[in-house]
Amino acid sequence: MIDLRSDTVTQPAPAMRAAMAAAEVGDDVYGEDPTVNELQEVVAELLGKEAALFVTSGTQGNLCGLLAHCGRGDEYIVGDRGHTYMYEGGGAAVLGSIQPQPVARDDSGMIDLAAAEESVKPPDHHFARTRLLCLENTADGRVLTLDQMEASAALADRHGLAHHLDGARLWNAAVALGVTPAAVAAPFDTVSVCLSKGLGTPMGSVLAGPADLIDQAHKWRKMLGGGLRQAGIVAAAGLYALEHHIDRLADDHANAARLADGLAAIDGVKIDSCATNMVFVRIDAERLEGGTEPRHALADRGVDTRWKGPRSRLVTHLDITTDAIETTIDAFADLLA
Ligand SMILES: *Cc1c(COP(=O)(O)O)cnc(C)c1O
Repeated sequence: MIDLRSDTVTQPAPAMRAAMAAAEVGDDVYGEDPTVNELQEVVAELLGKEAALFVTSGTQGNLCGLLAHCGRGDEYIVGDRGHTYMYEGGGAAVLGSIQPQPVARDDSGMIDLAAAEESVKPPDHHFARTRLLCLENTADGRVLTLDQMEASAALADRHGLAHHLDGARLWNAAVALGVTPAAVAAPFDTVSVCLSKGLGTPMGSVLAGPADLIDQAHKWRKMLGGGLRQAGIVAAAGLYALEHHIDRLADDHANAARLADGLAAIDGVKIDSCATNMVFVRIDAERLEGGTEPRHALADRGVDTRWKGPRSRLVTHLDITTDAIETTIDAFADLLA
């Protein structure tokens, strides 16, 4: 089955499993796991930050970051379709008593900075204290430019706000922009990155930033149940992926572009957007035979997809070959024939 539902569905390759099996480990709650320590140092260095913390997931990385920046009754500004706002169970509000202030996010994935600036609250007992501005890159596959991120950093600076990046797919952004990961991370105080998406590890994310904030985040991770023991076994997968799986993201981007081109040529298919490793596609449901569910019909043709009505997000990743792209285009063509 060609699985285009997400870049999280990858299988750890034999070489990654071998690196995991060979990992030197210790009790990370005592700070004694050499492989976890190495991963944290490598990621801090890659992102140009002072320190880094291995966490179980992107959700935990973002939440530890938010909790480190904000106290009870503080507020963070976030895109209205941002992952930290929409898709993390309201964790900041539930567990941190941190109020989100959502602002509109446009089709480039960027938040409306004018609206963000207007939503910064003056010091007044009526208001929550605005404390943090949060961006996401990539956002639905779309890449924020260095200019966009720097404009946001300048806004944060003007108002004394901290600046956090949900960089679950920061690696894709860096490859697409042709810059280092550190260049993408530079406009931010803290950055959360995932190892389990395009990089293909079984689990794990890293939060990077100034040493004092990462120390705070470490305490929050403990409280969130994220204290880890011989976690070097999974950290080793991260180290392997950072070495072998970043540059090849360009292949995923090329595959997504090829997929979008091929699908766009099919009558009844419309491409809403294609950026980095994500293609958002829409089909003309009236062309399908009555009762045909696109998901089931494509699965019958060997392609696993996820749909919201007539719209689907197709995601390329390291288990998707160029042949699989051709098969997928054929499956759509056959479905709509
Ligand atoms: C997946 C994702 C996260 C959260 O990562 P999990 O590991 O699934 O908790 C955060 N932000 C974005 C943009 C994501 O795509």
